[in-house]
Amino acid sequence: MAVIGFIGLGNMGGPMAANLVKAGHQVVGYDLVPAAIEAAKAAGVTIGESPAAIAAAADVVITMLPGGKHVLGVYGDIAPLARPGTLLIDCSTIDVDSARKAHALAAGTGAASLDAPVSGGVGGAAAGTLTFMAGGEADAFERARPILEAMGKKIVHCGGAGAGQAAKICNNMILGISMIGVCEAFVLAEKLGLSHQALFDVSSTSSGQCWSLTSYCPVPGPVPASPANRDYQPGFAAALMLKDLKLAQEAAQGAGAPTPLGAAAAQLYALMNAQGEGGADFSGIIRMLRGEG
Ligand code: NAD
Repeated sequence: MAVIGFIGLGNMGGPMAANLVKAGHQVVGYDLVPAAIEAAKAAGVTIGESPAAIAAAADVVITMLPGGKHVLGVYGDIAPLARPGTLLIDCSTIDVDSARKAHALAAGTGAASLDAPVSGGVGGAAAGTLTFMAGGEADAFERARPILEAMGKKIVHCGGAGAGQAAKICNNMILGISMIGVCEAFVLAEKLGLSHQALFDVSSTSSGQCWSLTSYCPVPGPVPASPANRDYQPGFAAALMLKDLKLAQEAAQGAGAPTPLGAAAAQLYALMNAQGEGGADFSGIIRMLRGEG
């Protein structure tokens, strides 16, 4: 079993590190927040002195941080101390450019690296059922696979450096757009006197079928597990959806890709956040579309 460094023990990183401990790895963690450190200790994670000290001692270092600037800051500390052969895996959701810079920092010291963002949320992190989308060299991916399998159930190699982040933001752009589409259809149905269940029964087996409707229905009733049934407690918070849609827009502008619906979705989620609803589940955007204050 490997010695695994884990930097960023928050809502996602905490339970992911705990699953690595359960799988028998020796996990040395680090975070800036005392509560995150205490929770990780209780789950069997040893706390390291600093990211650099962890990098010097670990076979593999995983980062799970808020954004690109945090990842590049930490990579600036850990890459120079990583041994040739150390594997650096960044599971944070960050912009594609920063992901590629992180790979370059790792390569500069002979360390192998992967960008491996996740989907599945806090529930998936706790249950060990995350999906990992990885970008990097094939041999780095093969080394990472058994470690990622302790935290997830689907592990996909998407291509070279940054391809994992590209897959993540493309997927979440589809999700943001499709959720708004489903919400608009329910709001129109309400105005036309069509019941939620009737629209669901038709569209869930027709050409309007999609995950936002059948797995995460934004109105209470048809899908009992969806956040609509618990007053839009997340789930996946609207603030995180906005973060991912902004990353998609940044990437689209850089790459010259036309994404008019992605841009509209980003604007609508920005409005939801500005109205103080960033902590609600992203499917709660239906309340804003109805004009509920
Ligand atoms: P979080 O804010 O709960 O955790 C981030 C942790 O990083 C915090 O505990 C913070 O103290 C720590 N941190 C920040 N800078 C640090 C540094 N320099 N050194 C050490 N620790 C540092 O966030 P989260 O919900 O765990 O999300 C982490 C990443 O996962 C984000 O990129 C997010 O977009 C992505 N993500 C989150 C979800 C979700 O549902 N929460 C789902 C998929 C992906």
